[in-house]
Amino acid sequence: MPDSPVREPLAPEPGVVALRFAAVRARVADAALAAGREPDDVRILLATKTMPVEVVREAVLAGATLLGENKVQELVAKAPALADLAPTLHVIGRLQSNKVNLALRHAACVQSVDGVDLAERLSRRCEALDRHLDVMVQVNVSGESTKAGVAPDAALDLAAAVGRLPRLRLTGLMTIGAASRDVALVARGFARLRELRDALVASGEPGTGDARELSMGMSGDLATAVAEGSTMVRIGTAVFGERPRA
Ligand SMILES: *Cc1c(COP(=O)(O)O)cnc(C)c1O
Repeated sequence: MPDSPVREPLAPEPGVVALRFAAVRARVADAALAAGREPDDVRILLATKTMPVEVVREAVLAGATLLGENKVQELVAKAPALADLAPTLHVIGRLQSNKVNLALRHAACVQSVDGVDLAERLSRRCEALDRHLDVMVQVNVSGESTKAGVAPDAALDLAAAVGRLPRLRLTGLMTIGAASRDVALVARGFARLRELRDALVASGEPGTGDARELSMGMSGDLATAVAEGSTMVRIGTAVFGERPRA
């Protein structure tokens, strides 16, 4: 058997994460001020996928309070080693129904609710645990087939269904921006999410009145997202550097 190549985990040098996190904070603040918004109105969630827990700890010690994992396995692996720092953990990737129990052990919010079946399962499990869970509905504003999320035309119906579930607290909507260099196209997608959020909050449907969160914007498009009303950007590369290819 040929030797498998040893691949060093790509992890930034000590100190770099704190510097980059400060730079991202400044970028977010600049974007907010340029859009006539308050910097504090945009929170930063760090997307920690593939990053070793020591690196994640450095980010939390540098002031990060919100972390997101795509995979429940990574969430489960890192959460105990972060517990003393008490960050708030979100699930931001596709959640399989057989991982719901594990996710609920560590996550304060599931941003990636994309169907009523998953929402009902989450609510039922919360019922059994006698707790509540924050959730967002993920919307595929770009229509790219590789992206998860409910279609924009179906988003309000799904959000209304989620809002009616007894144990879920709908906090807002999440999207991943179009993979395009066309800034106007990316901006239109984010604007679409904002319009959906405004319609949702105004709908009068039970459990939707507080769903004001707009989780949108990543390392490459955070300024565009903040200009379109993002209340939470999800940042990976700009703080942690390039990830190893999956
Ligand atoms: C990885 C990831 C991010 C962060 O992306 P970067 O481009 O590395 O900043 C944000 N949201 C989700 C859902 C992700 O999977």
